[in-house]
Amino acid sequence: MIRVTLELSCSVCSHQQFYLPVNASEGANVRCANCSAFKCKTLDLEKALSAIQRSRLGHHPAAA
Ligand SMILES: [Zn+2]
Repeated sequence: MIRVTLELSCSVCSHQQFYLPVNASEGANVRCANCSAFKCKTLDLEKALSAIQRSRLGHHPAAA
């Protein structure tokens, strides 16, 4: 598992660091690094992160 800080917060403790599995033997569950609650699966996480990036990059024309 690797510990990473994400643009998501744990629904239990609002922590923003999570353990991600690095190979198949560790499964696909993303766990909170603070309280160990399961946050989501890695596939869900990819979707969530890409949605965050889209909302950040798109639909906000620069006001410069
Ligand atoms: Zn937590």
